[in-house]
Amino acid sequence: MLQQQAGKLSDGRPTHECGVCGVFNHQDSAKLTYFGLYALQHRGQESAGIVTSDGTKVAMHKNMGLVPEIFTEEILQGLKGHLSIGHVRYSTTGASNITNAQPLMVSHKGTTLAVAHNGNLVNSIALRNAMEEQGSIFQTTMDSEVVLHLMARSTHLGLETALKNTFTSLQGAYSLLLITEKTMIAVRDPDGFRPLCLGKLKNGGCGRAGGWVVASETCALDLIEAEFVREIEPGEIVIFQESGIRSIFPWPKQDTHFCIFEQVYFARPDSEIFGISVYQARKRMGEILAREAKIDADFVMPFPDSGNYAAIGYSQASGIPLEMGVIRNHYVGRTFIQPTQSMRDFNVKVKLNPVRSFLKDKRVIIVEDSIIRGTTGKSRVRALREAGAKEVHMVVSCPPTRHACYYGIDFPDVNQLIANQKKIDEIAQYLGLDSLHYLSLEGLVKATGMTKKNFCLACFDGEYPVAPDRTFRKDALG
Ligand code: SF4
Repeated sequence: MLQQQAGKLSDGRPTHECGVCGVFNHQDSAKLTYFGLYALQHRGQESAGIVTSDGTKVAMHKNMGLVPEIFTEEILQGLKGHLSIGHVRYSTTGASNITNAQPLMVSHKGTTLAVAHNGNLVNSIALRNAMEEQGSIFQTTMDSEVVLHLMARSTHLGLETALKNTFTSLQGAYSLLLITEKTMIAVRDPDGFRPLCLGKLKNGGCGRAGGWVVASETCALDLIEAEFVREIEPGEIVIFQESGIRSIFPWPKQDTHFCIFEQVYFARPDSEIFGISVYQARKRMGEILAREAKIDADFVMPFPDSGNYAAIGYSQASGIPLEMGVIRNHYVGRTFIQPTQSMRDFNVKVKLNPVRSFLKDKRVIIVEDSIIRGTTGKSRVRALREAGAKEVHMVVSCPPTRHACYYGIDFPDVNQLIANQKKIDEIAQYLGLDSLHYLSLEGLVKATGMTKKNFCLACFDGEYPVAPDRTFRKDALG
C-alpha cells in the first residue's frame, strides 16, 4: 500500500523571489491583476494576493497556493474597484504562512495602505530594530513591513515627502507597488536590481480613459493585451492618481545594477527586461559558450526547461544537432505520493525521462543554465549514463555560482553552493561528467549586449553593489 505522504517537487534549483502586478483606472482591475499574476506565477508559487480599491473602499484576498487555486470568479467579483495591486510570493518552508503572504495591508489615521514587494531590503533589520525600540509593533517577519511603518511616520508631511523620506532610507533591492484608496504608486530602487515595467491598456471600460499596468515582467502585459510603454527607471517613483500620472526621482543619478540572473534563469524567456529580450540573450549565451567550449559530440540537449534557449544557441553556433534526449512529463503537480520502497532519483525521474533507444552509445552535451547544489545535475547525468550514453559533457550558460545573493534570490547557504566548495574539475567528477565548462563572466555580459557596469554580478564575482546584511533571513524575502 502506498503511503499518503506528500513529497515536494524541489529540484535543488534556486528559487525566486516574487512578482508584482498592479492596474490603475480599469473597471476590471482585479481580473486583469489576476491574469497578470497568472503570467508571473514562475516568480513565486507559495502564496498570492490582490488588494483593490474603488476610490473609497479597499478589499483584499490572499492565500497560500497557486494563483488559480486562490482566486475564483466569485472572489474576483468581490474585489471591486478600478485600482489594484497583486503579488505572487515564494518563501522558504519556515516562513511559508498566510501572515507573510502579500500584499501587506495596514490602516493608519483613516487611510489604508498596502504594499507588494519584489526584492530584499538589506537594512530592514536595523530599521526594524530601531522602530521596535520606539514602540512600533510588527505583525510579520517580512522586510516589506518596514516600508509601511516608514510611510505611516511621514504621511502628515504629504505624499511626495513621505515617499522620498521612506525610500531614501531603504537600501537593497525593491521593485514594489503601493496602493491607498485613491492612489497607486510604483517604486524601483536606484540600482534597478529587479525588473519593473509600465504598460498602457487600450481602455478602462465604463467610459474610463485607458488604464495603466505595472508588472515585474512584460509577459504579464502581453496576456492582458496592454501595450509596453517603458521600464520604470531605476530610482523612479511613479504616482498614479485621477489627475494623471507623474514621476519623482529622489536619488542622485548612479550606475544601475540589474540582476544578471534574471537574464540567465529567472525571467520568462518571452519577457523583455532591462531592455533586452530574455530569449535572445539566452540564445546568445549558448552561442558564446559554443565558441568558448568546443566539444566533439553527437548532439546537444537541454533538460527541459532549464537550458532550452542556450542549447539552441550552442547547437546553431557549433553545428552540432539539437535533440531532445529526455522527455518532460507536463502533468506532474507540485506534490506527489512518495514511493514506499527507495527509488533512486525519484524526484528527477518523475518529471524527466530519458529516451533510451536514442541515447544508447551517444556522446552527449547537456546545456544547463546554472549549477547550484549539484544534486540535480548528478541525478541527471546518472540517468543519461543508465540510458546508455557513451560520453556525457556539460556546458553551463553562466559562470560558477560561488557567492550568496542578498537581493531577493534564495540561493542556499554558500556552504551548499557546489562551486564555493569545489574546483571545476572536482565538480565534474562529482557530477559524473566527462567534461564540464562554464560560460565566462565576459561572455555572459556580452550576451546581453550591455556592459559589466550595468549589472549586479555578485553571486559570480563577490562584488556586492550594496553592502549586504550578512545576518539576512531567508524568510524575509519578498
Ligand atoms: S547576487 Fe546574483 S542573483 Fe543576486 S541580484 Fe546579484 S546577480 Fe542577481
